Amino acid sequence: MSRHISSLLAITAVCVTLTPTSALAAQAPKKEVDCSQVKCVALTFDDGPGKYAGKLLDTLKKYDAKATFFLEGQYVKSRPSYVKRMVAEGHELGNHSYTHPDFRKVEKWDVRAEIKKTQEAVKKAAGVEPKLLRPPYGMVDLQVSDVATEFGMPIILWTGGNEDWSSKNATAIKKKSMEVAKPGSIVLMHDWVKQTVDSMPSIVKSLKRKGYHLVTVSEVLKGQDVKLEPGDVYPVPAGWENK
Ligand SMILES: [Zn+2]
Repeated sequence: MSRHISSLLAITAVCVTLTPTSALAAQAPKKEVDCSQVKCVALTFDDGPGKYAGKLLDTLKKYDAKATFFLEGQYVKSRPSYVKRMVAEGHELGNHSYTHPDFRKVEKWDVRAEIKKTQEAVKKAAGVEPKLLRPPYGMVDLQVSDVATEFGMPIILWTGGNEDWSSKNATAIKKKSMEVAKPGSIVLMHDWVKQTVDSMPSIVKSLKRKGYHLVTVSEVLKGQDVKLEPGDVYPVPAGWENK
């Protein structure tokens, strides 16, 4: 505790000696990361906000990292304060249905209702509506694409996943996360997997050491000059063609 107090005192001492010019510079908004020039990776968290979202947000904030959350409406409803924090702290939001059905196996009106209900829950929790869709299990067909088009949303899948839901093992999760993180990648993770959230400080530090900037999905797409229309799917699955 005493060390904490003395470092606080040291910070105060530095602050009062700042000239007005440098004080202004310190407040200037941070320059946006240009992912066409530097290595970027988009970490994405599905099915949340999960139980451990608060701890995850603390880690992301500490390391100045941004992420994208593909939210499940039922948990948005039960944990709205995390959604509010995600928006306030500069993360991107996506829609991941309300109750996680396989969209290929339900009626079109049900797909529509699942998406709409989640949009409304997020709007109620945080005042914004997600602009990206990730269908449950990443399962896409023409019906899903049609409904995504109605909502004006592109469909975002992933380039690799850390398989946390299957291993639930911190060492394996970190190893796989580092393996699938490549320039421009979109990595699938889950904030309901405790071991993922526990490993996150170590994963973020290792990625940064390798020169990666942790950004949102939209920033990664922009860096690669990918322009998606509503209903388009990215990355394009085998046998699929965007309109
Ligand atoms: Zn999911």
